[in-house]
Amino acid sequence: MNEVKYPSELLENLVNEFHRLPGVGRKTALRYALHLLKEDEADAMNLGNSILRFRAEVSKCRVCNNICDNDLCEICINTKRNHRLICVVESVADVMAVENTAQFNGVYHVLGGVISPMNGIGPADLDIPALVQRVAEGGIDEVILALSPDMEGDTTCLYIYKKLADYNIEISTIARGVAVGNSLEYADEITLGRSIVNRIKYSL
Ligand SMILES: [Zn+2]
Repeated sequence: MNEVKYPSELLENLVNEFHRLPGVGRKTALRYALHLLKEDEADAMNLGNSILRFRAEVSKCRVCNNICDNDLCEICINTKRNHRLICVVESVADVMAVENTAQFNGVYHVLGGVISPMNGIGPADLDIPALVQRVAEGGIDEVILALSPDMEGDTTCLYIYKKLADYNIEISTIARGVAVGNSLEYADEITLGRSIVNRIKYSL
């Protein structure tokens, strides 16, 4: 393929930036950039400002690592939720997926990834110590390991299980309704909801 020639360096820069985003090819990136020129300047500025503000001001919940606009997330400050039940997930997108099922009334712990030697991610790169700390402080009845049912998820479950095995809590995993190899984020709400309700005791 011939190298694309851009009529403007500014355009080329913006296309390169959009192209960095997951799932955005060069053609789509170009469409996005040209679209910003077609719409009102104020709308384009809003997009830019939203990105700047999001990166600068969004924070991580001090307890669970969910993202939020304050010190604690909406879920952690909600007294109607069951704070004795922790659902461990890989990412903020997974929190959103589980919330969408409306089948879970506990709280979360976001690891920020899963153990993946292939991608150079080890246990030290994940927020497992804070989870162990939460359990060690007491007041927890059950930890649900809701990680993707693939090798990396399984490895991470086992690692966390070993860290928590000595505490007097239930440890469960979501039922295998989520197809193997699918991430939680893409599981449909009904399937994911069922797999949380029908969770099973973790066993080696
Ligand atoms: Zn939180």
